[in-house]
Amino acid sequence: MEKPRKIKTYCPYCKKHTIHEIEKMKKKKASELKQGQRRFRRALKGYGGFPRPKPEGREKPTKRIALRYKCTECGKIHQPKSIRAKKFEIME
Ligand SMILES: [Zn+2]
Repeated sequence: MEKPRKIKTYCPYCKKHTIHEIEKMKKKKASELKQGQRRFRRALKGYGGFPRPKPEGREKPTKRIALRYKCTECGKIHQPKSIRAKKFEIME
């Protein structure tokens, strides 16, 4: 899937269609303060191994891609629902 760097789409802050710049989100390391991460650290403590079963079978054919839309009028960033795609590129 290819997307242009600049796209005209709805800005929830301006409440109208404006030109947005697209940026691909990079995968961040899980924050140690997040509830899921704290629960995971707690599960690792004491006896008993890794809390989740090993993933089996094939890998998913598509990956989730999170995009950030920056409005060029107000400068605010919004992040709609992520999309799934095999390949993703931002066109110049
Ligand atoms: Zn805006």
